[in-house]
Parts: sequence; C-alpha cells; structure tokens
Amino acid sequence: MSELAFDAIIIGTGQAGPSLAARLSHAGMKVAVIERDKFGGTCVNNGCTPTKTMVASAYAAQLARRGADYGVDIPGPMRVDMKRVKARKDEVSGRSTHGIEQWMRGLAHGQVFLGHARFDGPQAVRVVEHRLTAPRIFLNVGGRPLVPKIPGVDDVPYLTNVSMMDVDFLPEHLIVVGGSYIGLEFGQMFRRFGSRVTIIEMAPRLIAREDEDVSSGIAEILTAEGIELRLNAKCLAVSRSAQGIEVQVDCQEGAPSVTGSHVLLAVGRVPNTDDLGVDAAGIEVDERGYIKVDDELRTTNPHVWALGDCNGKGAFTHTSYNDYEIVADNLLSNAGRKVSDRITVYALFTDPPFGRVGMSETDIRKAGMRALIGKRAMTRVGRAIEKGESQGFMKVLVDADSSRILGMHILGTSGDEAVHTVLDAMYAKLPFTAVQHGVRIHPTVSELIPTLLGELKPLPV
Ligand SMILES: Cc1cc2nc3c(=O)[nH]c(=O)nc-3n(C[C@H](O)[C@H](O)[C@H](O)COP(=O)(O)OP(=O)(O)OC[C@H]3O[C@@H](n4cnc5c(N)ncnc54)[C@H](O)[C@@H]3O)c2cc1C
Repeated sequence: MSELAFDAIIIGTGQAGPSLAARLSHAGMKVAVIERDKFGGTCVNNGCTPTKTMVASAYAAQLARRGADYGVDIPGPMRVDMKRVKARKDEVSGRSTHGIEQWMRGLAHGQVFLGHARFDGPQAVRVVEHRLTAPRIFLNVGGRPLVPKIPGVDDVPYLTNVSMMDVDFLPEHLIVVGGSYIGLEFGQMFRRFGSRVTIIEMAPRLIAREDEDVSSGIAEILTAEGIELRLNAKCLAVSRSAQGIEVQVDCQEGAPSVTGSHVLLAVGRVPNTDDLGVDAAGIEVDERGYIKVDDELRTTNPHVWALGDCNGKGAFTHTSYNDYEIVADNLLSNAGRKVSDRITVYALFTDPPFGRVGMSETDIRKAGMRALIGKRAMTRVGRAIEKGESQGFMKVLVDADSSRILGMHILGTSGDEAVHTVLDAMYAKLPFTAVQHGVRIHPTVSELIPTLLGELKPLPV
C-alpha cells in the first residue's frame, strides 16, 4: 500500500469533477482524479449524450414516416437499422468519454487513478493499492438506476438505462415501467424505431411532478403515436411467460397484465454513496442516501464537498456543472456563490420537447402566491404550424405583486430552447414588461412570448 499526499482528491468524473480537477490543477494544486468506470459518468455514457443521439435518430425516423405530410414521397417502406442507430450513438458518446479521459491524463498537476474509491478517514481515501490523503476531497460520484423491489424482479431479465445502451435490435414489444422523464424518452424513441411500446405508471398521470395540463398534453402526444399507457398501476409484479415477460399492472381499467418481449425499468435513481465509506469520514447522508450539504456544497466533514446528483440538489448535467462553478469560485475567488440562487430549469426530450423554467401552477398555489397566467396553444404559433409540429402549448406565470416572471413551460417544438428566453430576465429580477417590450425574430416560437405576456389573466386559486 503506497501513501500519496495531494492538495485535492476528486472522486468521480461526472459533470463536475473533470472541470474542477482542471481548474484546481491550473491554480497549481496537486490533484488526484479517481474513476472506477468510464470517464464522463452517466451523462456521457448512458444518460444525456447517448439518449439525445438516439432521440435524433427517432426524430429522423418519424420525419421519414411523415414525409408525405410535407410533400416528400419515400419509395418503399421506411426501415430503421438499429445496428447503425447504436453505432452512431456509440461514436458520439465514445468521442466524449475519450476526450475527457485524455483531458484528465493531460493535467499539468494531475494524477489519474482507476478503481473504486472508499474513505479511510476524514481526509483519506483508498483506491486499489494506494492510500491518498488531501485537505480537500470532492465527491462527484453520481447515481445509478434504481431497481425496485417488485415481486419477481430477480427472476426476469430486465433492462435499465445502462443496459439499453447495448440494444442494437428492435424489441418487438417494449414495456417501460415508469412514466417519468427517462421512461418517456425511451418509450417514444423505441415506438418511433418500430417497437410496440407500453408505458406503465403507478401514479394516475405521467410525470406527476408537473402540472396536470403538461401530463395530459404529453399523454396525448404519446398515445397519438400508438404508445399504450397503463396508469394507476398500483400493484406491480413481473414474471416469465411463454410469450415473454408478463407485468401485472392491476389497473383500475383494462387487462390485469401486459406481456411484452422486453422490460425497461425506469423508476428512478439512487446515489452512489452506499459503498463510499462515508461513516469513516464523518459524512452524513439523508434517508435516501443523498449526501447532506450546505448552500456552498460542504458536507458535514469540513474537508469534503459533494457535487452533482449525489447531493440531491439537482439531477441534471447543468446542475452538476453549476455545482462545480459554485465550489471552484468560492474556493479560489471567495465568490460567496450559493446553490439556492439557482433557478429550476430543465427539459424532457420527447418530441415535441417540454422545457420548464421556475415554478409551476401547482408550486404557486401551494406557496399561496397571487399570480397571473398566460397560455397559448402551439396551434396558434406560426413557426409550429409552418413546421407541421403544432402539438402542445406554452404558458407563463407572473407574480401579481412584483411583476416578476415566476415560471415558463413550453410543451412544443423548440420548447427546450425557447424557454431560456425568460431565464435571464428571471435571474436579473426584471419585471415581465422588460421581456414583453423586446422585439424578437419572426418566425420563431420565442416571438410569441411577448404576446403571451400581453394576455395575462389572474391565475385561478
Ligand atoms: C437516461 C438518462 C438521460 C438523462 N438525460 C439528461 C439530459 O438530457 N439532460 C440533463 O441535464 N441530464 C440528464 N440526465 C441526468 C445526468 O446524466 C446527470 O444528472 C449528470 O450525469 C450528472 O451526474 P454527476 O455529475 O452527478 O455524476 P455522474 O455523471 O453520474 O458520474 C459519476 C461518476 O463517478 C464514478 N464513481 C462513482 N462512485 C465512485 C467511486 N466510489 N470511486 C470512483 N469512481 C466512482 C462513476 O463511475 C461515474 O463515472 C440523464 C440521466 C439518465 C440516466
């Protein structure tokens, strides 16, 4: 066992670790970077990058299918080559993971260790045959798919977002357990590739964290493409059957079970903190395993910070990257940046996508705030009509007292991009009129946001 001393140790190369390692190395610190699997973590290898690459293939398939709507005839039947879909995905992901590894190996004051890291004291970590010490340790260990304890799960083959990355064939009938972000993206893309798809959700509606109009809007879009939804599936169980895998749904309506060729479990994620030896370092975790941190991402051990999904403050690449910025700016420039200054922003990358900034109607009602709302169907957005993609709606929510924008939701074409156009005004704490009076490019989805702000009505309580 060799003992090695560093100025900083970084465990995990997700979306915060590599940038932090580079910045600390640039500042002259001797940095250890530890990774037990592929460089770049979830986003690069089995999250954002590969899924959005596959969503792009699925979009191409859908456009080809709809060619005639645009006056484009494709002679003969359209066929998706899953081997080429996977190869394209592997190429894009592979370039990214390779780039991150090269970057880390090239750091002026960095040293890379491959293996599983575990704490061996408040300022010490063991990895393979080394014991590393440092006065600053940064955790960017991320999470993994949750495998729910549903009856029969140990006796059937199932897929997760990780094993989905190896699928280079078309499942005949994919059953997706979980009607939230990951499940919906996979469900729609495989339907577009040509599978029969059933999405099973325990709650009475899809993505139940969102407002009801968002859930019903997405359900409408998915069912129009032939995806079968089984909601209120309260009593799940899985078993093998002669036809494949049978999932008991026990819904209030419909058949008591669904049988498919493949099952994808997409019911949530768990943080990679159970095998990190946190007790040896005096680091507290909550009841779900997320590392407890303060507003500057310090753990209960003053020498250790937690960044990214493992701290439970965000579940996105951009939140993890923002964690890096907060920690680095505070450490190196005493900037006093805080996580609580962050405004919620994310997208669901179905087609059309759902982009969200800030509060929902439900959040506003819960907070007992007085608000104004503007809402418009995408059938009244010129660009959406011109593109032949007019499903969904946009809505904006404004504080009736301060006139500040509280939230914006766009379920519609370019919603993932257009929603950003109110974000800066929200960070700048500007009144909505600052956005309303700006002139925008025609024809875009964003150009309707000022119009929407001119049609505000009181939000019913
Ligand atoms: C299917 C899917 C799609 C997604 N799509 C999006 C999207 O479109 N947009 C978006 O913003 N987010 C998306 N996300 C979420 C996003 O991937 C994560 O929020 C993001 O990767 C941030 O993760 P992280 O930085 O916390 O760590 P991760 O990326 O999870 O990386 C953690 C790293 O730590 C390593 N590690 C863990 N424990 C140890 C240990 N003890 N020793 C050594 N190494 C260790 C792991 O091997 C891993 O490489 C998606 C997630 C999934 C699953």
